[in-house]
Amino acid sequence: MIPSGPDGDQDVASDAREAIVRAVRGAMRLESPTRDDARTVLRLADSDTLWLVSEVARVRFRYFGNRVKLNFLLNVKSGLCPEDCAYCSQSKVSTAPIPRYVMLGTDQVLEAARAAVATGAKRFCMVASGRGPTPRELERFIGGVRAVRSELPQLEICACLGLLAGGQAEALREAGVHAYNHNLNTSDAHYGEICETHTFADRVDTVHRASAAGLSACSGALFGMGETDEDIVDVAWALRDLRPDSVPVNFLIPIDGTPLAGRRELSPQRCLRILALFRLVFPDVEVRIAGGREVHLRSLQPLGLYLANSIFAGDYLTTRGQPAPADLAMIEDAGFRVEGADERTLPGARALEVTLKTSATGLEQ
Ligand code: SF4
Repeated sequence: MIPSGPDGDQDVASDAREAIVRAVRGAMRLESPTRDDARTVLRLADSDTLWLVSEVARVRFRYFGNRVKLNFLLNVKSGLCPEDCAYCSQSKVSTAPIPRYVMLGTDQVLEAARAAVATGAKRFCMVASGRGPTPRELERFIGGVRAVRSELPQLEICACLGLLAGGQAEALREAGVHAYNHNLNTSDAHYGEICETHTFADRVDTVHRASAAGLSACSGALFGMGETDEDIVDVAWALRDLRPDSVPVNFLIPIDGTPLAGRRELSPQRCLRILALFRLVFPDVEVRIAGGREVHLRSLQPLGLYLANSIFAGDYLTTRGQPAPADLAMIEDAGFRVEGADERTLPGARALEVTLKTSATGLEQ
C-alpha cells in the first residue's frame, strides 16, 4: 500500500493507486495504459515508487517469469560519425577521447562473439557508428555475421548500423541477422533538440524497413536529455506503434566532450518509474535496461530486474559497464536466473509472431 502523506496527500495517493492498479490489470490482459495513467506513473512520489515496482512486477513475472536475458555489445566501428547526436561520444561534434576505428574484421568479431557466449549472453549486438553503412562496410559487416552464424549458431545477432537504404535490411536478413536495432530515442517534438542531421521520421522509416525485410525490430529510447513527461509518453506511444519485439531503455551517460556533458537529471527512482511505464506499455515485449544502468540506478539496479527482463552484460559502446560476474551475482541474489539459449524470450503469441515475421521472407537464417 502507498504510504499516506500529510493531510491532502492521501487523495492524491489514492487516485494514483487506482490508476496504477488499473494499468497493471490492463497490462495483464495486454491492454495499453491510458495516457493519463502513464503520466501518473511518471509523476508518482519517490516514496511510492517501491510500491509501484512491486505492482508492475506482477506483469513482468506473468510474461517472463524470473528469466533475465543477457545481451552482449560489440562496437564494430567506432567514432568517425558525420551525424550530430548530442548524447553521443562518436558524433562529429564530440571531443570525447574515444577509440576511433573502421569496421572490424572477422577475427575480431568472432573473438567478441565467443566472449559473449562465455558470459551467458543470448544476443550479440553488433553496433557501428555512422549515419548508415556504405556498401563496403555492409559487405565487411556481413562477413562477420556469416562467421558468427557458422561457428555460434545459437547466438541471436542484432545489427545496429544506423539509417538503412533500400535492400540493406534484406541483405542483413539473408546473411542471418535476426534483429535490427534503431532507437527512436526521444519524442518527435523533442528530437530537434538532440539532433539536426537526421529526423525522427528518418528513424521511424528505418525501423519500418527492418520489419518489412523480416528482421525482428528492436527500438527504444534514451532518457535524461531534458525531455518532459509528455515527451516520455509520446516516445513510448510512438514505439508501441512500431510493434518492436525488444525495447531498450537507456539512461543518458553524460560523457565529457559531448554537448550533454554534465547533465544529471535522473534519480534511481525516476529511472524505475520510466521502466515501470515501459513494462506497462510493453507487457509481453522484451524490455531491456541498456546504457546508464549502473550510473543512474546505482544500488537500486536489482529493482530494475523486477520490471525489465533483459540487460546488457559487460561494457557499452564507449563506456564501461559493471563486470559480468557482478551482473550474474546480482541476478542470482535477487532471485532471478539467466535465460538459456534454448529458451524462448517472448511469451507464446509474441514468439509466434516473431517466428512468422522472420520466416516470411523465406530467407535462410
Ligand atoms: S548515435 Fe549513431 S548516428 Fe548519432 S552520432 Fe552517434 S554514431 Fe552517429
